[in-house]
Amino acid sequence: MSGVGDTNGTPHTAASAAELRDRFEAALMPNYGTPGIVLARGQGTTVWDVEGTRYLDLIAGIAVSALGHGHPALVKAVADQTATLAHTSNLFIHEREVELAERLIGLLRGAATGQHSEQGSGQNSAADDIRVFFANSGTEANEAALKLVKAVAADRGLRAGDGTGYIVSTSNAFHGRTAGALALTGKAAIREKFGPFGMDVRFVPYGDADALHDAVDSSCVAVIVEPTQGEAGVVPPPEDYLARIRALCDATGAAFILDEIQSGIGRTGHWFAHQEAGVTPDVLTLAKALGGGLPIGVCVGFGRFATAFAKGDHGSTFGGNPVACAAALAVLDTIEADSLLANAADLGALLAAEITAIGHPLVAKVRGSGLWLGIQLSAPVAATLQERAAAHGFLINAVAPDTIRIAPPLTISRSEVFEFTGALPAILAEATPSASETGGTA
Ligand SMILES: *Cc1c(COP(=O)(O)O)cnc(C)c1O
Repeated sequence: MSGVGDTNGTPHTAASAAELRDRFEAALMPNYGTPGIVLARGQGTTVWDVEGTRYLDLIAGIAVSALGHGHPALVKAVADQTATLAHTSNLFIHEREVELAERLIGLLRGAATGQHSEQGSGQNSAADDIRVFFANSGTEANEAALKLVKAVAADRGLRAGDGTGYIVSTSNAFHGRTAGALALTGKAAIREKFGPFGMDVRFVPYGDADALHDAVDSSCVAVIVEPTQGEAGVVPPPEDYLARIRALCDATGAAFILDEIQSGIGRTGHWFAHQEAGVTPDVLTLAKALGGGLPIGVCVGFGRFATAFAKGDHGSTFGGNPVACAAALAVLDTIEADSLLANAADLGALLAAEITAIGHPLVAKVRGSGLWLGIQLSAPVAATLQERAAAHGFLINAVAPDTIRIAPPLTISRSEVFEFTGALPAILAEATPSASETGGTA
């Protein structure tokens, strides 16, 4: 052990990165491989590793840390709620879950936030009804969505797996790792070893509304898509895609599940990506950024899906936990108070423009919206680029062999954007195949 006496700043960390990697490998299952960097702390858009090396965090824990690290509003909300009431289970109501549900419903209606004008309105028709179920993660939100659409389909005499019904998902989609969500996940490499799942799930190419049209008939229980595929490399669909899915579901009776687990809560410069498309799904799932780092997932039901669960149909011990709900309320308050939707839109556009303007041959294309970008590379060197970026003090994500994903905190500043784009030419040069083969400086 090194640095045992050092309690400045990192009181819990007395071990070196190399030692922690060894212990990680011995004590944790090998499903993640062994990450190269051992983080110790963060503040704003900056994180430090256990050796004190500083990094600009441009991935935010996979589009999660929307407020960056150590944001005072999040720290206070979590500390106060933990001191007041950390857990209730679903045997009891607590105020934060009610507040958060109302708040999300208000945002989904496009209402001004912070006014709680939705409270007890009781004037909405059944078709306007919106209700939420709280889970703890993205995959759990999608499990709830699956059960919800199955509950509605059962009323139509359809079951997705006994020959009467089926579900349609898209190639390369990512919907989670638990059994139901994994069955919907369109990457064979992560799915196939763990099947069969007892569900009839059919995959069509993402972004191809005609293929979807051919695949969906009146026996289809549900269509599930991401508004832009995140884990596939931040891949947006054609502009009318969501509208065409909406029309197809209306025509066939299939439920439209929209997975906004990565795209939601400001990432694209809108509260939700579907609001930009002007399309409302039947079921919506959220997670990642909502808790600002605290685990929370949400399944939202619209219209008949708002009330499709009967008492006893679903549940979670931790779901809607007061601390997670308090964190989420702090995230929503801060996004609004600090105009972070505008920041995401403006600085995302700046970031994309600056990366494109470098004109480096390794950058084939920059795609995405808001602070959610996929850099398509002209060679499969994303892992090298990620490693060279880290050596220059920037955390980015090699989401695919030829794609870099960037999803910084929504709080990122203009000068931090320029810090990265200023360093990027040198990073790109070090990652170009010829340069990296002749050896870099590390
Ligand atoms: C991350 C993600 C999930 C899974 O969320 P977990 O919290 O990791 O279970 C599901 N869908 C999408 C689109 C995601 O980005």
